Amino acid sequence: MNILIFGPNGSGKGTQGAVVQKKYGVPHIETGVIFRQNIFKKTPLGEKAKAFIDRGELVPDDITIPMILDRLKGDDCKKGWLLDGFPRNLAQAEALWTALEKERIKLDYVIEIDLDREIAKKRIMGRRLCKTDNNHPNNIFIDAIKPIEKDGKFTCRVCGCAELTARADDQDTAAIDKRHGIYYDTKTGTLAAVNYFKKRAKIISIDGSVGVKEVSEDLLKKLA
Ligand code: AMP
Repeated sequence: MNILIFGPNGSGKGTQGAVVQKKYGVPHIETGVIFRQNIFKKTPLGEKAKAFIDRGELVPDDITIPMILDRLKGDDCKKGWLLDGFPRNLAQAEALWTALEKERIKLDYVIEIDLDREIAKKRIMGRRLCKTDNNHPNNIFIDAIKPIEKDGKFTCRVCGCAELTARADDQDTAAIDKRHGIYYDTKTGTLAAVNYFKKRAKIISIDGSVGVKEVSEDLLKKLA
């Protein structure tokens, strides 16, 4: 099962991606996570990517496209994959489609989570990351996934871990606006990539404005 998941930053794409991953047992490949791991380990890739990420800009295509196409050749991808955060623009979409066609790999689903830009921005600023597992959903502005407050401090609502952090680029409004500018751009940005796949794959559109549970239910129903 090969799936792409799209949604603006703050739409709950990571959370819903984890739901899809559980359903199909395929690796959840998140470009942002790959970059952050490389930055943490201070690899040459991380050194190159960091400044772009800090500014909320895309890491250049000549770095990102080969990195992802190579990742999809991994042994764990033989039974499929869920790609999250890629493609992010029309050029990446075209490169992915060309690579898939060349290898005769079918794209089974393209999931699109719709969310208004202002709501997405507020959600991003409330997002908190658990040190034990980044996929533990915690957001101080969303009641359904609000971390637990203990002695005036927030702890992870899933594992109770006290090490909740906010990503620097999630607290920088200029960086958020830049990321959303790229996402909502229908000419060459991420929505252009979504539209590109509308003619080529089965699209599942989900309303991201409702609660986390409702979004998951809608998604699982449409994937069935
Ligand atoms: P995310 O975790 O998806 O919000 O990604 C964090 C940052 O990583 C983005 O703001 C970009 O700087 C970079 N990034 C993630 N995916 C891509 C991509 N497909 N192309 C270029 N840069 C990316």
